[in-house]
Amino acid sequence: MPYDYDNQNIFAKILRGEIPNATVLETEHSLAFNDIAPQAPVHVLVIPKGPYVNYDHFAAEASDAEILDFTRAIDAVARKIGVTPGAGAGGYRLIANSGEAGVQEVPHLHVHVLGGRPLGRMLE
Ligand code: C5P
Repeated sequence: MPYDYDNQNIFAKILRGEIPNATVLETEHSLAFNDIAPQAPVHVLVIPKGPYVNYDHFAAEASDAEILDFTRAIDAVARKIGVTPGAGAGGYRLIANSGEAGVQEVPHLHVHVLGGRPLGRMLE
C-alpha cells in the first residue's frame, strides 16, 4: 500500500526546525520532545526523523538501522526521565495512535511515553 506523507504536518515542521520543541533526547534517526498538552506528569513524544506516516508505514519501509534506533530511543527516553519500572516512578505506558479509528491527529509516526502517576487500567 502506498503511503502519502504530508510534508506540512506539524512534526515535519519541528524536524525542519521551523517550529520550536522541548527536546528530551535526539539520536541519529529519532527525536523525543515534550508533548505541548501533557496528559500525565511525564508525556514525551518520540518520532523517527524519516517521513513515516504511522507505525505500519515505518515497520514496512524503515531501514533496520532506523527501527533499531527508534526502539532504543524510546527506552533511552524512559530511562532519562526516570520512569523505567523499578526506577522509582513505577513504569510507563507507550501509545502509538494510528489512523482514523486510532484517532491519530498528526500524520507522522509518534509514540507517546506517559508516566509519573498511576495510569489506571486501559484495556479490559
Ligand atoms: O496521537 P495523536 O496524533 O492524537 O497525538 C498528537 C499529539 O501531538 C498530541 O498529544 C498533541 O498534544 C501533540 N502535539 C505537540 N506539539 C504540537 C502539536 C501537537 O506536542 N505542536
